[in-house]
Amino acid sequence: MQYTPYQVKKILDKYHFNTKKKYGQNFIIDENIINKIIDKSLIDNTTLVIEIGPGIGALTTKLAKVAQNVLCYEIDKNLKDILDNVLTEYNNVEIIYNDFLKCHVLEDIKKYQYKKLYIVANLPYYITTPIIFKVIEDNLPVDKMIIMVQKEVGDRFKAKLGTKDYGSLTVFLNYYYEINKIMDVSRNVFIPKPNVDSIVVEFIKKKQLPSLKNEDLFFKLVKDSFKQKRKTLKNNLKGYDLVKINEVLNKYNLDLQVRAENLSLDIFIEIANNL
Ligand code: SAM
Repeated sequence: MQYTPYQVKKILDKYHFNTKKKYGQNFIIDENIINKIIDKSLIDNTTLVIEIGPGIGALTTKLAKVAQNVLCYEIDKNLKDILDNVLTEYNNVEIIYNDFLKCHVLEDIKKYQYKKLYIVANLPYYITTPIIFKVIEDNLPVDKMIIMVQKEVGDRFKAKLGTKDYGSLTVFLNYYYEINKIMDVSRNVFIPKPNVDSIVVEFIKKKQLPSLKNEDLFFKLVKDSFKQKRKTLKNNLKGYDLVKINEVLNKYNLDLQVRAENLSLDIFIEIANNL
């Protein structure tokens, strides 16, 4: 099927499907945008793609054509009839009707053989951060993520040091991934039309991760440092060896009165390695 305004409305009507705000359902109605996302993703027949939230299959049908396998997680079981219909000709797509956040993805991908694992998703804004944290915390062996999000959320991924958007997510993402903006997407290419525009962002796993003595300690340190964003490091890191932390900060003309939002990834790494 062609994902045009006419065809999308037709299929929604045929299946008496009403889009649900609570699941952030805004479906793409522009074949050019879909093709661009697929082209830029550089997926090939050795790639297992995890798609979060296939909706009515706009990206899924195209992913199925280029990927080895597509494993989808869709929270809304009411989409099953539509997805069964639009995906009939593809035998390399599996759909798990469940909340992605509750799934054991590492278990689910065990049965697949693949060279590369990508995540592709057009995500509702409210769930973007928990999903990315899940990918990181579950240690999913993801090589690349191509994610469409509301523009404001996308800006947060590359938030600059010292801004209100700079948080633990920014630090973790920069630790693991090289982050590139792929394109802007107008709000006019969705049904129903959202109130804001979107962007597509790509996260490519770094070939060589920055060297850390203890990854768990680094993660805990960063999370604790941002626990109460307005507080200083001294207040957020009670219980840590503050003398050792201060040693590193002093090298950068900083002290324990600094807030986490002013610390770069490199400084966090150096502190963690000094503890
Ligand atoms: N990929 C489709 C497209 O681009 O047209 C649909 C995108 S729509 C913005 C988001 C999709 O994510 C919806 O189908 C929604 O039901 C699904 N969704 C929302 N929360 C989810 C969750 N926690 N787990 C899995 N899917 C979810």
